[in-house]
Amino acid sequence: MTTADQPGATANQTGQQVSEQQARQVAEAARETQWRKPSFGKELFLGRFRLDLVHPHPRGDAASVDRGEEFLARLRHFCQTEIDGPAIERDGLIPDEVVKGLTELGAFGMKIDTEYDGLGLSQVYYNKALMLVSSVHPSLGAMLSAHQSIGVPQPLKMFGTEEQKRTWLPRCARNITAFLLTEPDVGSDPARMHATATPTGDGYLLDGVKLWTTNGVVADLVVVMAQVPREEGRRGGITAFVVESSSPGITVEHRNAFMGLRGIENGVTRFHQVHVPEANRIGKEGQGLKVALSTLNVGRLSLPAVSTGSAKWCAKIAREWSGARVQWGRPVGQHEAVGGKIAFIAATAYGLEAMLELSSEMADEERNDIRIEAALAKLYASEMGWLVADELVQIRGGRGFETADSLAARGERGVPAEQVLRDQRINRIFEGSTEIMHLLIAREAVDTHLSVAGDIIDPEADLNRKARAAVEAGKFYARWLPTLVTGKGALKTSFGEFGPLAGHLRYVERASRRLARNTFYGMSRWQGKLEHRQRFLGRIVDIGAELFAMSAACVRAQREPEGGTATELADAFCQQARVRTEELFARLWTNSDASDRTLARGVLDDRYTWLEEGVLDPSIAGPWVADQITGPSTKPNLHRAVG
Ligand SMILES: Cc1cc2nc3c(=O)[nH]c(=O)nc-3n(C[C@H](O)[C@H](O)[C@H](O)COP(=O)(O)OP(=O)(O)OC[C@H]3O[C@@H](n4cnc5c(N)ncnc54)[C@H](O)[C@@H]3O)c2cc1C
Repeated sequence: MTTADQPGATANQTGQQVSEQQARQVAEAARETQWRKPSFGKELFLGRFRLDLVHPHPRGDAASVDRGEEFLARLRHFCQTEIDGPAIERDGLIPDEVVKGLTELGAFGMKIDTEYDGLGLSQVYYNKALMLVSSVHPSLGAMLSAHQSIGVPQPLKMFGTEEQKRTWLPRCARNITAFLLTEPDVGSDPARMHATATPTGDGYLLDGVKLWTTNGVVADLVVVMAQVPREEGRRGGITAFVVESSSPGITVEHRNAFMGLRGIENGVTRFHQVHVPEANRIGKEGQGLKVALSTLNVGRLSLPAVSTGSAKWCAKIAREWSGARVQWGRPVGQHEAVGGKIAFIAATAYGLEAMLELSSEMADEERNDIRIEAALAKLYASEMGWLVADELVQIRGGRGFETADSLAARGERGVPAEQVLRDQRINRIFEGSTEIMHLLIAREAVDTHLSVAGDIIDPEADLNRKARAAVEAGKFYARWLPTLVTGKGALKTSFGEFGPLAGHLRYVERASRRLARNTFYGMSRWQGKLEHRQRFLGRIVDIGAELFAMSAACVRAQREPEGGTATELADAFCQQARVRTEELFARLWTNSDASDRTLARGVLDDRYTWLEEGVLDPSIAGPWVADQITGPSTKPNLHRAVG
């Protein structure tokens, strides 16, 4: 067996063998290692509940609020009068006039500074705008956020030279852009990247194939990640480039179709000997993943915005439908089983919005490093948004499964509950799948431990390094462990200014210390092998997410006018979140992880293939597959005019 035949070790186009360890090294090298500002999330995982970092709730200045509200009003009017959401769903296409209208409104430049012809909106209002357009059709939110959260403007804003900004940002404010990282063999693991950028003297020649390029089919400019080969005197590595879509050698080969987001222009793009001038490189050679990850540090907040909008709409439909639909002598909402779902949907919509608002205000305030909070918000909102949509479908009964068009055709209100479920599903996969978010956040959660004790568990560290680390770790843990024994949460009077919510904040403080203790037990027990205990780490991260969400819910309620109903929602959300948190704590040590590992190995070793007998596999058998292969081409028009 060659190395490339072994699981997890394959050769990429530049001839490198990529093992699991190398994949991790590439991810580690792209990680931002410095913490220049305080981090609420990092402290939370260390057992230090720093409420002072998020309370009082940050608030944007009056000018940015006015600018944001003025834009939102124009956007709302356009959405209500000019966009037909059901038509986008039916046709699988965002009409050109909608793109043109959004361009005229300035929507493609929401996050671009005014000095480069953008609107210069705050993160708070950018997210509100995404939430609004996504409620008309989520493909609109996906188009705007693929362009602005990860597409050309954001990496340029963070890493571009002044000349690059002047050249491209005004164009980005009026045109669609895209971000091209994924390849057929490169999903969560960029170390395997095949696309190459070969130096030519005055620039590079790009070769490779990029998959699932949201906006890629219609983009004016794209950011492309490609490997510059390492050679004598050249650092090489994954590098980011701004590329003109009209460059010779670029072909959009296919427009992909999905279970949801049916209007997005997402394709497969092939690069063949595409010349890119040196001036188009963003940052240095080898910095590409750092560019991508740093862009996502805040860029990740757009998916929570979309998921929050979806949960808010679910709350509306759940209320209207469950109050009106009568079965067994009462509105279905009055049956306890349905009532529980309504309570879950309403409380979660509140909690998600609280988390989104707090993270976005923190992003604008720039007082804290919010990379952990934004990642937690993405993870939590995509998972909870999915559960909310699923519960709405259940509450709607058979109508939850029926399409909006079908409902309308037989004279009922066309409520697209099944569509929400389909559209929500991808949020758990792209911009960092849930599994990858767990690993990424867990890495940050254990960062302090690794920096003081990493050499003790590093198999490559020599005895001297291990001894030095043992001394340092001894000093750190002698100081840190006693801080986990007691804290403000143990005092009945703490957080009194939060009134009925004070008890929840005391719980968060206690749970934060308990979380840190459990993380420490995990590290002590598994040491260097902890990174393979992904389900343990996933639960640690999920507890952190619940604690952050509870903190956000309480802090948000506290800033609302007295006598309002926000406190009731925050209280209900925290009650539910505490139950989930306790379940997660229990499952840290009482679970079926060990037997599941054995079973998964058995499944992968074909031990139980008899279990699959008695069914057919439509993806490899039957005449319908042959029909699809030989049938007429349904290729859409890939080059629609934009702008
Ligand atoms: C509609 C849509 C739009 C997209 N838009 C873009 C875009 O604009 N630009 C772009 O570059 N990409 C885009 N993508 C790609 C998207 O980001 C990837 O699908 C995502 O990164 C996951 O990669 P993958 O699908 O190859 O899954 P894989 O990486 O093959 O993963 C398969 C499964 O294994 C899990 N997994 C993988 N590695 C690990 C690990 N180390 N530990 C634990 N679990 C692991 C994953 O979580 C997943 O469940 C888009 C995809 C879709 C479907």
